Amino acid sequence: TLPLFLTASEHALRDADKIAIIDKTKGQCFTYRQLLADVAALKSQLLHELHRALTGDLEERRVAFLVPNGYDYVVTQWAIWAAGGVCVPLCTTHPVKELLYTIGDSEPSLIVIHSVFEKVLLSLRQQAHKNARFMSLAPLEVRNQLAPSIPLPSFSDIMPVDRRALIIYTSGTTSRPKGCVTTHQNITFQAECLIKAWQLTASDLLIHVLPLHHVHGIVNALTATLLSGGTVEMYPKFDAKTTWERWQDKGASTTFMAVPTIYSRLVDYFNLDIRGTEREPAARAGANALRLLISGSAALPTPTRNRFAQITGHILLERYGMTEIGMGISCGLDPNKRPDGSVGWPLPGVEVRLVDQESGRVIDSADEDGMIEIKGQNVFFEYWKQPAETAKAFTRDGWFKTGDIARRDRTGAYFIQGRESVDVIKSGGYKVSALEVERTMLTLESIQEAVVVGVRDEEWGQRVAAVVTQRPGTPPLELNQVRSYLKSEIATYKIPTILITVDLIDRNAMGKVDKKALVKKYWPELM
Ligand code: ATP
Ligand code: MG
Repeated sequence: TLPLFLTASEHALRDADKIAIIDKTKGQCFTYRQLLADVAALKSQLLHELHRALTGDLEERRVAFLVPNGYDYVVTQWAIWAAGGVCVPLCTTHPVKELLYTIGDSEPSLIVIHSVFEKVLLSLRQQAHKNARFMSLAPLEVRNQLAPSIPLPSFSDIMPVDRRALIIYTSGTTSRPKGCVTTHQNITFQAECLIKAWQLTASDLLIHVLPLHHVHGIVNALTATLLSGGTVEMYPKFDAKTTWERWQDKGASTTFMAVPTIYSRLVDYFNLDIRGTEREPAARAGANALRLLISGSAALPTPTRNRFAQITGHILLERYGMTEIGMGISCGLDPNKRPDGSVGWPLPGVEVRLVDQESGRVIDSADEDGMIEIKGQNVFFEYWKQPAETAKAFTRDGWFKTGDIARRDRTGAYFIQGRESVDVIKSGGYKVSALEVERTMLTLESIQEAVVVGVRDEEWGQRVAAVVTQRPGTPPLELNQVRSYLKSEIATYKIPTILITVDLIDRNAMGKVDKKALVKKYWPELM
């Protein structure tokens, strides 16, 4: 294989006048031809900025960039790759303190800041290391003079495929975000797996509403679609109303990818603002016309899945992955291959196994819990500057230990039970999957969100505790009422003995809950 950028430009060259990016903030469409031309121009600018004109290669130097979701982001990312650098995308919604963490950790040779973030640039300049080097990026516009006759730039002079390409910081759900380094080969393989499994083609138009500092938005959504020659329509951020309106539009969008909280907000918006109005039939038909809707990054609650299916006719396709591996397991294109609560089967080329944590035995039977371990070209190269952490994350025979517990059914479909570190609650000799309890609690109509954790207990080791938010307009929840409902659903030892209702559950940029921080907030004495 070629390095990711070259593979992508090869595809782009095949149909250079096709629209690659629809930028909704700018209200403009950009062809692959312009994309490649702008990449070539920015590549030279980056090299010039770092005085690498002679060798024309950044030699794996890191370039951090803060660019809003849209065309300019894609140009920046491809230009860094074209220059031989390593992309460090910064999160557009992070406060300066978090940005400084990522910058401090990744030690970029250059920090590119888009002009819409002028204020951030000022604070970063003041607070970053004094040797930090900044470059301001002006917004790019459509160039109509780019006639089909103009020869396309050639980028053929560089790069072995096993070069570092990208550092994505993990979501920081369980500890400080770790910089996950992937090579060109890793990302190309990750994207190609998805292209195969989800049959992405040049006819696809993806509606992109995800953050672009995370594997979901960068690899699954952006890279896989561009690598298959499709079109990516980029929104500055997710908005339920805009998404419903867009689905309803005649412009044929075909694919959509999101985290579960986005789907639940789409369902809520439909119920409150669309249902019963004259817009309802068109909204339903518009959503139904999409080819494929994918959910991941956290467990998809059954009620969200069911309500979404009732409204749109689509059973969401759930998949499992993480920053370190891209995607590993996915449900099928055939809607019958999307069992409720399951993330499906291993992706093509990805090896998956379950390992019993106590004995180290590889599990081959159904319905037994074990840690997911992964092998394949999709697996990341290293944790940035953390050789000890990297070594710890792999078994002696080269399997990556995900930290997630799962079981398989008889068909080989995987069911995620949660993270070993926070979701496996050990209570009185039993092991309770927090995800299973959450899933069950969410079938109670009045519960909007449920987060289940283990808190310290003298007698039981840990007790099962739940933090919930309520659906608007429902009567206050009582622990006893929740317990008596759950008694007919799950074993008694799994039922929470502590329950608190809050107005808002803190979530990170990917919509995930830091459970350790949650326990610290509500039960500091029971950590
Ligand atoms: P950190 O590693 O910094 O604590 P994080 O693990 O949340 O953060 P990511 O790499 O973004 O960072 O998330 C990967 C994790 O998300 C997986 O290890 C898994 O626990 C969870 N996950 C992803 N997809 C699913 C899914 N479909 N169902 C349940 N959990 C999922
Ligand atoms: Mg993780």
